[in-house]
Amino acid sequence: MTTRALPPITTLTEAQQRGWACVWCQAGLGISLGVDLGEQRVRPADGAAYSWFPRQCPDTAACEQREAT
Ligand SMILES: [Zn+2]
Repeated sequence: MTTRALPPITTLTEAQQRGWACVWCQAGLGISLGVDLGEQRVRPADGAAYSWFPRQCPDTAACEQREAT
């Protein structure tokens, strides 16, 4: 499995930032579904640092197909 660089958090929806939706294709992820990509720390230029918790689809092939369309 290849590790991809995460997209900038400013381009993501709130659902994606909270791990409710896939960071790549925006598909909704149910509780305990999705692959945890680990805690990410971000330090915005104009605010306090905070954590976010990206998740991605377990089925990466289907995910990439959704992302491409
Ligand atoms: Zn996905």
